[in-house]
Amino acid sequence: MISALVVWLAVSSTGNLTIRELETTGQARLALYDSSLRAAIDRYRYLPYVVARHHQVIDAISDPQSAQIANFYLERVNDRSGAAALYVLDKTGMTVASSNWNTPDSFVGEDYSFRPYFSQAIAGNEGFFFGIGVTTGRAGLFISNSIRQNGAVIGVVVVKLELDELEMNWQEGGETVFVADADGVITLTSRGDWKYRTLSPLSDADRARIVRNRQYSGRDLTSLNVGQQLAKGSGIVTISSQRFLFDSKPIRGSDWRIYYLTSMDQVTDRQAAVMLIAIIGGGMIVLVILFLRERELKLASQREAREFERIQALNTRLEEEINERRRTEEELRGTQNELVQAGKLAALGQMSAAIAHEINQPIAAIRTFCASAKLMIERGKTDQLDQNIGQISSLTERMGAITGQLKTFSRKSTGVLEAVDLKIALNNALQLLSPQLDSENCTLERHEPETPLFVHADLVRIEQICVNIIRNALDAMENSSVKRIRIDLSSNRNDVVMRITDTGPGMNDETLSLLFDPFFTTKDPGQGVGLGLSVTYGIVRDFGGTIKAYNTTTGGACFEVRLPLLRDKKT
Ligand code: ADP
Repeated sequence: MISALVVWLAVSSTGNLTIRELETTGQARLALYDSSLRAAIDRYRYLPYVVARHHQVIDAISDPQSAQIANFYLERVNDRSGAAALYVLDKTGMTVASSNWNTPDSFVGEDYSFRPYFSQAIAGNEGFFFGIGVTTGRAGLFISNSIRQNGAVIGVVVVKLELDELEMNWQEGGETVFVADADGVITLTSRGDWKYRTLSPLSDADRARIVRNRQYSGRDLTSLNVGQQLAKGSGIVTISSQRFLFDSKPIRGSDWRIYYLTSMDQVTDRQAAVMLIAIIGGGMIVLVILFLRERELKLASQREAREFERIQALNTRLEEEINERRRTEEELRGTQNELVQAGKLAALGQMSAAIAHEINQPIAAIRTFCASAKLMIERGKTDQLDQNIGQISSLTERMGAITGQLKTFSRKSTGVLEAVDLKIALNNALQLLSPQLDSENCTLERHEPETPLFVHADLVRIEQICVNIIRNALDAMENSSVKRIRIDLSSNRNDVVMRITDTGPGMNDETLSLLFDPFFTTKDPGQGVGLGLSVTYGIVRDFGGTIKAYNTTTGGACFEVRLPLLRDKKT
């Protein structure tokens, strides 16, 4: 688009420039042609005037006997001047003497009264007439002047100029120049084919007059039909489908006009050259742009390739890192499992005292029941034995329950995830902790829906979460006057939520911020190792859940665990 505009601008400005240049040259050439034509004419203009005053010429009119003398005189003068013919007409237009008196084309005896140059001169004016000679058949310019005797016009002197040489020079010059007379007939021209053509079609009256004058006898005087275009004096004209730039001016001392034409081919040629240059230049610019773009694209693709390699290398590194992390995670999970076990062991250690306490009592009771049974047997009161043995059996059952829970506690996670009802996991955990809850005289408050709350998890680990949090609550309430644990289970669209709230002293800011860090503990050595909550945190995260802790408004601590709800579990 832009390059087309540039080409158009270049071409049109070249056209304008060339036209202006040609106009200037045309004006100069026109002036030159005009002055050379005028010089050729002016050389002879005075001749009829001078000759008309010669006594031999005057005599020739009044005395036919002296005509021969005039013939000699005219012949001599004509030869000297280089005119085509010089001749004298009497008052009736009859030639009485002529420079060519002794040639076959002699004008002597010819009647030229029909010629305008005769009537003009007889009228006392200078005659100026271009036409084709009726005697010679050769075209020429006739300039005439009157012969006077005692003030009266008695005859006419005519000089005929043939401007062939001048016209030939014009033709040889190779330029386009022509002269048109008052009727628009081209009289002189460098273009042979335009000679005697008219600029505009002649009117009937003009044509009749020309025929009467026998001015251009034998010529068709067909029109070039360019009069309208030439009327402006200068501009552009189309002649025979060829375009010309033209300029013209009137020839002083005549009713002629001279025209100088320059072919517009020069303009179009130059425009074509400029267009070619502009197109080649434009093409080269386009090529350069294309080359640069190609190079830019190549560089860009190289850059992309490098970037791709870099990203690939990065990806490989990332992949390695991911693998590394996966390995580390596996190791960590292993470690976590171990920690869970370690946590359990710690809990086991803590529990053993309570268990010992729990079991010691029934053992002591059994021992007492055994001793009394022995006494009953000795005393023969065997009927009371049954009740005694029943009590022993219920005591052993209770002991069995305690040890049974210990077995559950020592279970290791299978690692297989399944639908786990949080309520069941909580029940198991509470069963496990019941000796401690009892010994601490802690009340338990549970709020939960009747429906199961399924999560996608591992039962043992969920139990572990509950055990860790509840055990911490029990520890925290060691010195509290009111020992109550409230457990709220609920679910929303996405999660199962478990809140465990105690009536302990709550946590200070430092504890809150470090709570889930491994080995963070505020308990005495031997009491806690600081692993419970960090393990809990890891388990909750593994199941896609979250855990947070905060103090309640009443001062106790609350642990809130959220695990994704397993909705499509069929119950
Ligand atoms: P440990 O019980 O062996 O100390 P945990 O990771 O289970 O390790 O607990 C870390 C610490 O968090 C505890 O030492 C205690 O200071 C604090 N903590 C945990 N639960 C409670 C609670 N319910 N009330 C007050 N502090 C608590």
